[in-house]
Amino acid sequence: ATVVAATDVRRTYHLGEPVHALDGVSLSLEEGSFTAVMGPSGSGKSTLMNLFGCLDTPDEGTVEIDGRSVTALSGSDRARLRGTEIGFVFQTFNLMPRLTAAENVTMPMVFHDVVDEDRRARARTLLERVGLGDRLDHAPSELSGGQRQRVAIARALANEPTLLLADEPTGNLDTETGAEIMDLFRELHDDGRTILMVTHERAIAEHADRIVHLVDGTLDEIEEVRGSKAASG
Ligand code: ADP
Ligand code: ADP
Repeated sequence: ATVVAATDVRRTYHLGEPVHALDGVSLSLEEGSFTAVMGPSGSGKSTLMNLFGCLDTPDEGTVEIDGRSVTALSGSDRARLRGTEIGFVFQTFNLMPRLTAAENVTMPMVFHDVVDEDRRARARTLLERVGLGDRLDHAPSELSGGQRQRVAIARALANEPTLLLADEPTGNLDTETGAEIMDLFRELHDDGRTILMVTHERAIAEHADRIVHLVDGTLDEIEEVRGSKAASG
C-alpha cells in the first residue's frame, strides 16, 4: 500500500527571479520501500525532503502521509504530524550535546503520553536495536561518528514513524562507517520500515531498492536497483 505520496507538487521560491525548485513532481512511497534521491546541487532534493518531512507545503499539488493530507493542515497540526509520523536523520547527527544517548532518544517521545520509566525502557530497546545497548548513558562527545549516527537513528525511530527521512546520512562518515550505517538501514528496511534518503554518492544510493533522479526540479528517472548491495552480499 502507498503510505506517503506527493502528487504533482510545485514549489517556487521568490527571491528576485522566481526559482522553480520543484516543477511538477509526483512520487509515491510504498509501505516498506527504500528509496534514494540523487541529483545535482540545486535540483530540488532538499525541497522535496522538506515537503515529505512536513516542514514545508507545496504551492501546488498535494502531499499525503498515512492517508492524511499535509497540505490542508495548519502549521501546528503539521508540526504534530511531523513529530509523530516522520523520523529525521541528518548528515551532522544533530544530537543534543548535553544529553546522554538515552536522553536524546527519548526526546521525540514528548508527543506521546508515556511515563518516564517507559521512555527509558523504550530508549534502551531502540539503542539495543542499533547496536548501542552498552552506551545508554554516554554523551555524544564520548561516541564515534558512526555511533552518534546510530543514536540519531534510534531517536528517529522513537515514535514508530510512518516514514524515516535521511538527508545525506553518511556525508560525515568515512567509507567503512558509512557502509555500516547502510547495513543498518537495510536491516530496518527488512523490518518493514519505509525509508527515503538523499545522497550524493552513487555507492550509498545503491543500497536502496530504487533511485529517484531529480534534474532541475523535475523527476528525470526512477531507476530500480537490481539486487541491491546488501541483498547481493
Ligand atoms: P538541492 O537540495 O538538490 O541542492 P534545493 O531543493 O536546496 O536543491 O534547491 C532547489 C532550488 O531552489 C535551488 O535553485 C535553490 O537555490 C532554490 N532554493 C531552495 N531553497 C530556497 C529558499 N529557501 N529560498 C530561495 N531559493 C531556494
Ligand atoms: P544541499 O546540501 O542539500 O544541496 P543546499 O545548500 O541546497 O543543501 O540547501 C541548504 C538549505 O538552504 C536548504 O534548507 C535550502 O532550502 C536552503 N537554500 C538553498 N538555496 C537557497 C537560496 N538560494 N536561498 C535561500 N535558501 C536556500
